[in-house]
Amino acid sequence: MPAQWKKMHEGITDYLEIMRLAGVSEVKREIPSTAPKMLTAALPDEAAAVDVPTAPEPVPASRLNEPECRPNGVLTKVEQLHNLAEEVARCTRCRDLASSRTQTVFGTGNPDSALVFLGEAPGADEDKQGEPFVGRAGQLLNDIITKGMKLRREDVYICNILRCRPPGNRNPMPDEAEHCRPFLDRTLEIIQPKFICCLGAVAAKSLLASEKTIGALRGNVWKHNGLKVICTYHPAYLLRNPAAKKDTWEDIQLLMREMSGND
Ligand code: URA
Repeated sequence: MPAQWKKMHEGITDYLEIMRLAGVSEVKREIPSTAPKMLTAALPDEAAAVDVPTAPEPVPASRLNEPECRPNGVLTKVEQLHNLAEEVARCTRCRDLASSRTQTVFGTGNPDSALVFLGEAPGADEDKQGEPFVGRAGQLLNDIITKGMKLRREDVYICNILRCRPPGNRNPMPDEAEHCRPFLDRTLEIIQPKFICCLGAVAAKSLLASEKTIGALRGNVWKHNGLKVICTYHPAYLLRNPAAKKDTWEDIQLLMREMSGND
């Protein structure tokens, strides 16, 4: 290919790529007046009819995150989680839970967090307020995050195996955990954390599909879909058995070592 054509070809390819990234999905046949000079300058007369895209108005960098400035179908994590939360709020897969809940309890925190805390299911306080871990167990989880890990609650993401409160705070039934599992999987797909800290036997056994006890699961690093999973006692258990707090502190130290890449 003559050098002049090669240069023109490269120019057109680059230009089309820029248009594609800016969200242009189809091109018109006219050469736009806004096409780069190097393109039109390089065109011999007989090539003037070559297909060249219409140049859109350039999008200022400050607006690139606005929905209408992004290529079709690209949603932020916040938007994806919001849509998923709306889907959860409409869910009636578990009839008893759907009819007895005040509201669904989706999750809270930083959608870009490397760490997700995974609990069992909302209790009475969570059902009332629509946010996980806001009762007494939540206070203890806050202490673990702030005093133990020196993080803020809003730095991590917190959610549960179930998004509805089981009546009377009973344990989730296996079929309820199964119904809710796609919501957990999709939450994790959106957030893409590197670490999950399972709080209690229900969360640990359900996530890892394990029959082991929480005593056997804690103190180790497990893998789930490429994520590192650390299990510890549920804060509600620690409130009833304060002597186990030292074990949880060891688990949290293990988690922190993993997170800082020291292990
Ligand atoms: N216990 C849980 O497992 N989750 C909550 O959100 C609250 C209490």
